[in-house]
Amino acid sequence: MLRAALASVVGLKVMEFYVCPRQPRDGLRHDRRMPELPEVTALAAGLTERLAGRTVTAVRLRSVGALKTYDPPLQALCGSTVAGWTRHGKFLDMSAGDLHLVVHLARAGWIRWRESLTEARASLRGPLALQVGVDGGGGIDITEQGTEKRLAIYVVRNPLTDVPGIARLGIDVLDASLDAATLCGLLRARRGQLKTLLADQTLVAGVGNAYSDEILHAARLSPFKQASALTDQEGGRLQDALQRVMREAVERTRGLDIGQLKPDKKEHMAVHGRTGEACPVCGDTIRQVALATRSFQYCPTCQTGGRVLADRRLSRLLR
Ligand SMILES: [Zn+2]
Repeated sequence: MLRAALASVVGLKVMEFYVCPRQPRDGLRHDRRMPELPEVTALAAGLTERLAGRTVTAVRLRSVGALKTYDPPLQALCGSTVAGWTRHGKFLDMSAGDLHLVVHLARAGWIRWRESLTEARASLRGPLALQVGVDGGGGIDITEQGTEKRLAIYVVRNPLTDVPGIARLGIDVLDASLDAATLCGLLRARRGQLKTLLADQTLVAGVGNAYSDEILHAARLSPFKQASALTDQEGGRLQDALQRVMREAVERTRGLDIGQLKPDKKEHMAVHGRTGEACPVCGDTIRQVALATRSFQYCPTCQTGGRVLADRRLSRLLR
């Protein structure tokens, strides 16, 4: 009995030893649940439809660490009427009275409309971060799955100046003035690889890990290409792909009810999250580069002249 118990404990330890290093790979492999500009845009529209004109009757913080501001207090939202929801980059912004409730959903956050709010208790580990109830019944649950708690909530008077992440945002990816020359100028002024720079919110706001894979694939550019080496022709392709991929994604989600909007966008992805599958353009096998906390996908034939990039995490394991 004791031996069996010991063996199971030892077995568990061994399992953990082998399983743990794989967990980030499985949990963070594709970021396909991470809301990016199209999902955030659709959420803002859906939330406006549900909440505009209604008065906030209750605000319940369920994950204390999610709230990043204390003045004005969260409860100051109660009694104010919701004007609507907008977005700044990937931040959501509910305007109510002279206040703004700003939410950054991070990797695993989401917002759901509820016909009636549940009486959930505050919990450090549960998914519920904040509930907002409105007159007439119902309200929203702001949630974050997983153990990595990075969802951020702010109550501010001016989101453009009072939320540091918004104040630092670069030009919006759908801004009409973001032409090829502007994009090339922005990229060449920074050192770094295209993959990293495209997802840098201070450079261009709205693109994350998933859509940057799609944009680079559509532009036929290597994720590891140095921005400083971008030619005008490549810059033109990148600008075209950037706005086309994002506009198409926004179009797809337009008009969907927030209940129909799933935080899983893989089905419309050509390469992202599709390691080992065939490229829809050329049929080559889609490859993956795995970094410490995330990974991304590309097509060698379309993007790197057939060269397979080193999977750094895999090479480390094999060493
Ligand atoms: Zn291809």
